[in-house]
Amino acid sequence: IHILAIESSCDETSAAVLSDGKVFSNYIANQTVHEQYGGVVPELASRAHQENIVPVVDMALRKAGVDRSELSAIAFTQSPGLIGSLLVGNCFAKAMALALNIPLIAVHHMQAHVLANFIEDPKPEFPFLCLTVSGGHTQIVLCESPLSMKVIGETLDDAAGEAFDKSAKLLGLPYPGGPLIDKYAQQGDATRFKFPEPQIPGLNFSFSGLKTAILYFLQEKQQSDPGFVQQNMADICASVQERIVSILMNKVVKAAKETGIKHIAIAGGVSANSGLRKALQAYSERHGWQYYIPKFEYCTDNAAMIAMTAWYKYQAGEFAGLDAVPSARAAF
Ligand code: ATP
Ligand code: MG
Ligand code: FE
Repeated sequence: IHILAIESSCDETSAAVLSDGKVFSNYIANQTVHEQYGGVVPELASRAHQENIVPVVDMALRKAGVDRSELSAIAFTQSPGLIGSLLVGNCFAKAMALALNIPLIAVHHMQAHVLANFIEDPKPEFPFLCLTVSGGHTQIVLCESPLSMKVIGETLDDAAGEAFDKSAKLLGLPYPGGPLIDKYAQQGDATRFKFPEPQIPGLNFSFSGLKTAILYFLQEKQQSDPGFVQQNMADICASVQERIVSILMNKVVKAAKETGIKHIAIAGGVSANSGLRKALQAYSERHGWQYYIPKFEYCTDNAAMIAMTAWYKYQAGEFAGLDAVPSARAAF
């Protein structure tokens, strides 16, 4: 069984080929056009997808050594995401499925982020909890089987990735600032500055207060010393990262206690963060958890995770019709 998967929910155009459950190619075209605007411009993203999609699909098929005529199904990201971006992948997938007369599989992007943990061994044991932390979402997901998962906690405002990116912006770092905060943090002292931890009931998160706290902190410091940020960049980044990570991990501890589950996975772009990875390892040792982290290239947006999800759907006979339309927001 050969599945071609397409991911186009935000600003990465990606195609992957999976054969009998194994990923043979995962080609990702990053859109650089947005850098100058300090964030993703939806209209430009759609146009870039339109330009990228044919060559990206071509590269993925060639790298896998699979001919179009051998494909068993075509998968695409249906939601959530930017509607114009999703439409490009959706229309392309439908046209190709129709032309080849093979089934179409619609995939939920956040479910796919979780299932990125199944691309390589060791795969998580069910039931497990997944902390999905990306540019637009922060969720604790209770997973009972590949296609049966439930969000048991999520952010009430900003996502963890946004918290990183907005903090970076306040520090004058370019977009997306998450990876830069990570880089500076590695040389910094995380105990130097203390940022507040919000008191949010249950398993939900909030990051907007942190952003405000950082803003006021920087305003006050810069007033007496205009060179403050430049001179303390590493320590500020380390302290900010420490707080974001502790907000995330404290809720995971709570979720693990409440559910009694000791298998913990992370997923999404922020799971590339070195501080979060280290924390997950340290907490796992302390709490006796088994932990799982996808390979770096499967953390941020990629079509391999869409292909993996499609593989489970293929086996379950969950196909979409040619009337399948994308949606900007949808639960799974
Ligand atoms: P969603 O999946 O919610 O629709 P998205 O797909 O745009 O959002 P991802 O591509 O999964 O999000 O992740 C991008 C986010 O991950 C950005 O906010 C980026 O700053 C953050 N990120 C990537 N690497 C790191 C890192 N090393 N440390 C912190 N944040 C990081
Ligand atoms: Mg992105
Ligand atoms: Fe994503």
